[in-house]
Amino acid sequence: MADLAWQYCCTVMAAATMRQSNWGARRFQARDVTEDHDFDPEKVVHKSRISGKDLEFMHLAIEQAKKCVPVETAYNVGAVIADTANGEVLSVGYSREIPGNTHAEQCALDKLYSQDRYSAGNLPDTLAVYTTMEPCSKRLSGNKPCAERILESGIKLVFIAVLEPVHFVNCKGKGMLEDSGINVIHLKELEEECKALNSHIFLGQR
Ligand SMILES: [Zn+2]
Repeated sequence: MADLAWQYCCTVMAAATMRQSNWGARRFQARDVTEDHDFDPEKVVHKSRISGKDLEFMHLAIEQAKKCVPVETAYNVGAVIADTANGEVLSVGYSREIPGNTHAEQCALDKLYSQDRYSAGNLPDTLAVYTTMEPCSKRLSGNKPCAERILESGIKLVFIAVLEPVHFVNCKGKGMLEDSGINVIHLKELEEECKALNSHIFLGQR
């Protein structure tokens, strides 16, 4: 039944996407919806409701984060890129997976681009990023921030489980994405689990 509901949801979402291309309007409908898991096709505007599939993808991102080798100077983060139209996982990544002080979203995107059919700026608008922590907006290493990479990718839907704490930098990733019309959904029910991934450095300011 869950799969059928998901497929139905995707069909409605696709129709809604075709009707409504104003992401700026959509994002406000996506906020603070974590308490509402009831599916109401009349209210669906490109994932303004969270499905069990979304939680499943975030759990997969958590499993990715657990593969991180902990370091004192960076967080353990996991990321998944999935197609919400068919529930297919297209790419996964975790912090420092690829050499060069890489981040989870960066690894997942680079691995996605390594597949012939996907390139930055030309991704289907049904794709979503699921990341255990808010995408970074500033990197002390000078590398391109993940929020910027997501904006360049063309992905319009991002799920996060925890905001980046004010520890290394003052992260503005969520706001930066939303200001550019990206739909950012905070899966607060998985927040504690994702905080625990960084218990070695998490100070809990946010
Ligand atoms: Zn990052």
